[in-house]
Parts: sequence; structure tokens; C-alpha cells
Amino acid sequence: MKTPALWSAQAHMPSIIDRQIRVVSAQGAYLTTDKGSRLFDGTSSLWYSNIGHGREEMAQVAYEQMRTLDAYHVFGRYTNDRAVELSEKLVDIAPMDNAKVILNSGGSDAIDVALKLARRYWNHIGRKTKTVIISREHSYHGLHAYGTSVAGLDFNREGYGTDSLVSGTERVEKHSTTAFAEAIERIGAENIAAYIAEPILGTGGVHPPQEGYFEEIQKMCRDNEILFIADEVITGFGRTGSMFASTRYGLQPDIVTFAKGVTSGYAALGGIFVAPRLWQPFFERNANAPIYRHGTTYSGHPVTAALALKNLEILEQESLIERSAHLEQVLSNSLSEIESHELVASTRVGGLLGAIELRDIAQAEVITDQLLDLGFISRPLRGNSVQISPPFISTDQEVRSLVEAVRYLLDDIQPARIRA
Ligand code: PMP
Repeated sequence: MKTPALWSAQAHMPSIIDRQIRVVSAQGAYLTTDKGSRLFDGTSSLWYSNIGHGREEMAQVAYEQMRTLDAYHVFGRYTNDRAVELSEKLVDIAPMDNAKVILNSGGSDAIDVALKLARRYWNHIGRKTKTVIISREHSYHGLHAYGTSVAGLDFNREGYGTDSLVSGTERVEKHSTTAFAEAIERIGAENIAAYIAEPILGTGGVHPPQEGYFEEIQKMCRDNEILFIADEVITGFGRTGSMFASTRYGLQPDIVTFAKGVTSGYAALGGIFVAPRLWQPFFERNANAPIYRHGTTYSGHPVTAALALKNLEILEQESLIERSAHLEQVLSNSLSEIESHELVASTRVGGLLGAIELRDIAQAEVITDQLLDLGFISRPLRGNSVQISPPFISTDQEVRSLVEAVRYLLDDIQPARIRA
């Protein structure tokens, strides 16, 4: 039997081989497939097509940058105009004062660089036992070695012969400050480097923070000298109606990871913001200052940086973050109408991120497949939930229609259930 050359990501290959969806083009909030279907991008691809697809001005920026400087690295003494400009811009909008920026190629990269830096920092200041990383159940932090090891979705951590690829990781219940306190007690603050959390837990089912949760967690981090890392790979750059969710939820992180929305997906870029107390030792004008031995070939890539700068300019010029805040309200109103449906267990919304959690009889995977026939892309998330996270350029009606399409499909299941 012929099998495809491309080994798809996170896929049960035998199940998808005969039903792959081949996307050939995209414009605005819509994709076109090789079969000629036009589909509404109800998830912004993997939570990132915030400014929408197919922007001419983005293509133009990439073209012009390639003609000036196609690529050059930022190792050692080398830097380039776009990497410098982007870093200055990012520091301006960062959810912390006086930040530094490390650039790389995506969210998983950002997680590796953040967690390595947390350990490296404590090691440098002589607190060598502070190495354990605490994360939350149902969290997702990408799939490089650190992300795999801290994953709160167990299936992402299984099958590597050991419990985790990177040693010294622990998970705590996602909304429990008591669980965090117990973990600190059990492990010992002197052994803990950092706590990492998505401000809104994304792939784990879209769970916004509960009132007061992060406030208390941050206090415990401060009291126990544990670094607080906000993983804003999904929430950064306007997804929650402010530039960063850290601002919206009053977080004061020591490190923030970002990716996706920094370029709206037009190029592969991720990175981290680092707070002064962490970067200062590495910048001291002193021969004994340590080196953070991390870097990847495409860190500070000029074409990628030029695209990020243009993306940030578009967000501002078209007031798309305000638009995202507005669409959150539209989504929230639509979800409240479907919430009482017999087959809906609950709905959740935080920023322009929503989930419809279904009761057992209605399967999120089946609904997601059927939505395609109605022209909408969605995605099943953990906990039998349907993901809704459209581009910021979507119309109010498009957002409402997606929720209405889910209702239409649930209405169809309902009579069958009553007959049974
Ligand atoms: N952190 C979070 C919160 C994410 O949602 C993701 C990707 N969905 C990542 C990290 C990893 O990013 P990437 O896939 O770009 O490596």
C-alpha cells in the first residue's frame, strides 16, 4: 500500500492517510483545499493566524528584506538591523520593565531556552540545587525535550523509556494553589527553579485562570524564590484583548515565552522576554560574567524579524487587538446561548479563545469532522471540547455562525439520543 512521504505531526497515520486535507491557498480568514472547498479558519491554524492569511504587504516585506539581507546569524559579535529593531520594539511592548529578548524559531524552542535559563541563572548565583521545574496538569508547552518533560498532557510524555526526557520535572493540579503549596513542601523550595504556566491553558481545553489563582501562586513563588514563567505562546500579541495576557491578568513574570502571534505565522519565530534580575549577571562588564550557552542557527533571522515588525505594525494600525477584545464579547454571547443545550457540558472563554465542552454522547472529534462539511475548521481539544479561536479579522457574523453550526450539529444528534 502506498503511504505518503510526509510523516504528519501528532497524527495516527493509518487513520488519516486516506482523509488528509490538502490546503492549497489562503486569504483572510479562509482556506481553499485541493478539492475546491472554502473553509473558515475557526482556529487561526494552530492559534496563530491573527492578522489573517495572504497579506500582500507581508509578502512585500519578505521580498524586500531578502534582497537586502537574506539571512545572517546573531551568534557572538554578529547582529543585523531587523533583529535589533524587532528586539527594541518587543522590549517596548513587553509585559515587564526593562526586559531583554532572546529570539529563536518557535514555541518549543522558547520553552527550552526559558527553562534552561531558569536553571542556568540559579546555578550561576550559586544556588545549584534549584533545578526542579513545576508545571500544571493538562498544560502544553511544546514538544522539544523540556516541553515534552513538563507536559501536563500525559500522552505527550509517554514512551521514551523514562518518565521524562529532562529530569526534575513535577506537575500540580491546574487550579489548585494548595497543590502547589504541597509540592513546594514536598520538594523543598531550595530545589525548585521555576513554575511555568499558560495564563489561559490552551491545548488542554481552554481554561482561563480562576479568580485570585495566579495572585496566590505568584506570592508563593516570591516567598520561596521560585521563578515565575508565563508561557504566552498562544496568548501573546493580542489574543486576549491586551498585548499580553500577563497584563490582562496582572502577572509579573520573570520570563515570558512567545511565538505564533509574533508573526501571525508568516515566519517561524519564537522567543522569550527576560526580567532584569535574570539578565543582569550576563551583561555585567566584567571578564568573569557568565555566558548563556544557547543559540540556534535561525535566531534573529532578518526576514523573520522583518515579518514580525510588519505584523506588529498591522496589529496597531488596524486596531486588531481592540478587534480581538470585541470578538471575545461576540464569542462569549454566542457561547452563552449554546451553554444550556442538552449536549453541552460547559463553555469556556478567555480572550478570543473559546471551547465548547460536550457531554459524552456528542464526540468533539465527530462534531469537528462534520463542521468541515459545513465549511468551518475547528479542532477537538482535551476533555471532549471543540476549539474556537478565529483570526482577529473575522466578522462578528463569522464567529456567530461557527457557534451556530455547532448547535445545528448537536440538534441533529439529540433526537437520535432521545430515541435510544
Ligand atoms: N507553548 C504553548 C502554550 C503552545 O500552545 C505551544 C504550541 N501550540 C507551544 C508552547 C509550542 O510551540 P511550537 O509548536 O511553535 O513549538
